[in-house]
Amino acid sequence: MKKIAIITGSAGGIGLIIAKKFLANGYSVVFSDINKEGLEKAINEEKQKGFDCIGIKCDVTKEEEIKNLISQAMEHYGRIDVLINNAGLQHVANIEDFPTDKFEFMIKIMLTAAFMGTKYVFPIMKNQKFGRIINMASINGVIGFAGKSAYNSAKHGLIGLTKVVALEGATYGITANAICPGYVDTPLVRGQMADLAKTRGVSVEKVLDEVLFPLIPQKTLIDINDIAELALFVASEHAKNITGQSMIIDGGYTVQ
Ligand code: NAD
Repeated sequence: MKKIAIITGSAGGIGLIIAKKFLANGYSVVFSDINKEGLEKAINEEKQKGFDCIGIKCDVTKEEEIKNLISQAMEHYGRIDVLINNAGLQHVANIEDFPTDKFEFMIKIMLTAAFMGTKYVFPIMKNQKFGRIINMASINGVIGFAGKSAYNSAKHGLIGLTKVVALEGATYGITANAICPGYVDTPLVRGQMADLAKTRGVSVEKVLDEVLFPLIPQKTLIDINDIAELALFVASEHAKNITGQSMIIDGGYTVQ
């Protein structure tokens, strides 16, 4: 029987790579994103390769859209094995300059959305006696970073939510885990480094060497494919007794 995975924020970045990994490993995938054009492009590319996937536009800050995502996925595939709450964004500002509505919005995207997704998928997974909830947290969910009050609060909260989901799903074959990446080698992170390089009038490599790598014992960005592999394992049968955990993949950043 083919397993079905829903991935939020999968039109680009980490979500897209996870979706491709799941497809390549026999899953049917429900792509979902606020970006309708990106979503269509992503599923068309995968369909052309012969993979089984659908795209459902969903803004995870809207409860009705999350409900619709779960019910449409269910209507199409008849079961949901994996939900990956991945959609997220960043805003950096000191607390006194951080707009309160921006703070609330970020909590909504990265914490409330995961709660709502879990809420609507839980009855289905309980009924199946199988489910995997994977929450994309961050090392910002484990340690503090100045300037990231909303992001840190959301990701710390997400790790707390993961533990409760693990407990409530424990006797139903449902696991819940958080993946906590450090600095991932994505266009977004490369772009931030390029901006910094421009401001300083130096190369991107120099910025990496002087700004980021002194903080990372392994002196490397995290390979996006390794995150997808970890998600695939957490979703697998062999990870059935791993639940409520925060899996840090950060090149040693947080062990110092
Ligand atoms: P990204 O910006 O490349 O991709 C995020 C995706 O989410 C985009 O496709 C975007 O359209 C979508 N999205 C944004 N708002 C949405 C909404 N309201 N509803 C639905 N979709 C929405 O970001 P990424 O780097 O791939 O990050 C993915 C997740 O990984 C996030 O939760 C982020 O916090 C986490 N993370 C990223 C890094 C990193 O270094 N990139 C590190 C740790 C954790």
